[in-house]
Amino acid sequence: MTIRTPTRTPIRTRFAPSPTGYLHVGGARTALYSWAYARKHGGAFILRIEDTDLERSTQASIDAILDGVAWLGLDWDEGPFYQMQRLDRYAEVARQLLASGHAYWCYASKEELDALRAAQRARGEKPRYDGRWRPENAKGKTPPAGVEPVLRFRTPDSGVVAWEDLVKGRIEIANGELDDLVLLRADGVPTYNFGVVVDDLDMGITHCIRGDDHVNNTPRQINIYRALGALLPAFAHVPMILGADGERLSKRHGAVSVMQYAEEGFLPEALLNYLARLGWSHGNDEIFSLDQFVDWFDLEHISRSPAQFNPEKLAWLNQQYLKARDDGKLAGEVAPRLAARGIAADDAALAKVVALYKDRVSTLNELADAIQPFYADVAPSAELLAQHITDAAREALRALHARLETTVWERAPLNQALKEVVAERGLKLPQLAIPLRVALTGQTQTPSIDAVLEAFGRDKTLARLGRYI
Ligand code: GLU
Repeated sequence: MTIRTPTRTPIRTRFAPSPTGYLHVGGARTALYSWAYARKHGGAFILRIEDTDLERSTQASIDAILDGVAWLGLDWDEGPFYQMQRLDRYAEVARQLLASGHAYWCYASKEELDALRAAQRARGEKPRYDGRWRPENAKGKTPPAGVEPVLRFRTPDSGVVAWEDLVKGRIEIANGELDDLVLLRADGVPTYNFGVVVDDLDMGITHCIRGDDHVNNTPRQINIYRALGALLPAFAHVPMILGADGERLSKRHGAVSVMQYAEEGFLPEALLNYLARLGWSHGNDEIFSLDQFVDWFDLEHISRSPAQFNPEKLAWLNQQYLKARDDGKLAGEVAPRLAARGIAADDAALAKVVALYKDRVSTLNELADAIQPFYADVAPSAELLAQHITDAAREALRALHARLETTVWERAPLNQALKEVVAERGLKLPQLAIPLRVALTGQTQTPSIDAVLEAFGRDKTLARLGRYI
């Protein structure tokens, strides 16, 4: 397959979501690819809100999408543009198409069109508009009173529409397969296919990178470009994202909203890295920075088959990012999550606790859970108490408590103190360390116990131990 290399510069791409819900991972991936393509080529990335579906578009969705794109850090150069603020412009282009004979008013009522479709289905035909208001068929017909017309595009009667898709290769559709699509609804609001062409033209878009659920729309859009005598952008249709069951990814598969991942404590870098790799590859590279991705990204290496969303892999990747993150930075990121639980933590001390736990968790929320016992009182479950805080354990803890009152509060001497108590009482280390962990944190497993003691500090340690001796 020959890939058409971009000839129009600068490169201009766009992300054009319909605000009918939150930003989901599929939309985020499309946005990422469009953004990266523009950044790689020193071009511009444009954000456009396609809000012409008046029933389903909401301000809440607009806000949610803008929040999601901003949280991911996909900065845009122009926009956001709103289609509902551009109605005059669509009307202007509509008049142009009308004047050149590429569009016509159609007065068919909804009932009439329903009846047409029903009759076609009954004959086993594919339902389609039959061109009854094309000028040559409408000669002598008086437009019915009370029907506001829609503007239809006059699709060429013959020939094919073909394009070299930058992901899928050559795609060809016969015009005979397409009917005369509506450009403007009776209320003057454009349909998706018309709005998108006018906008992509006006905004100088050179590359339309979008989900392959739009492949069927592209030939209709190309016909409109041709009718306007305009240059075509390049098209790159990215295959869908599927869930583990092979069905298109949806809420049924768990979290699909970008902001839900943000709430759970995924890092935007990790989610972007995961989405970058989902349906595009650079050898076997799995972990790479956004800068690296921009440098490597091309449309040729987008997979032609659908990608499968794997939440475990995303969690694994997030874990790698948490592990590699600077302690101070991570402390700043987990602090608001602790604050939401009523815990105010001092930054320097928090960074130390974060360092102990960051390679044991997959999300910031898990990190906050793990850290919570260092700041807020914990009550070990009755079961853990019964199992681990036995009479023998209490005695060991009492001996340790006495020794810790005079131990220098650093890892090495703390470790020494633990060893001495264990030796004196003829115990094995876990016989002291596990009750100690339960008493301090309510958990049987923690990072190295001397490091935990150090981070707890003497006062808190002695106070908590004091309850069990
Ligand atoms: N508004 C369309 C959608 O959200 C965008 C299609 C396009 O990128 O052309 O699916």
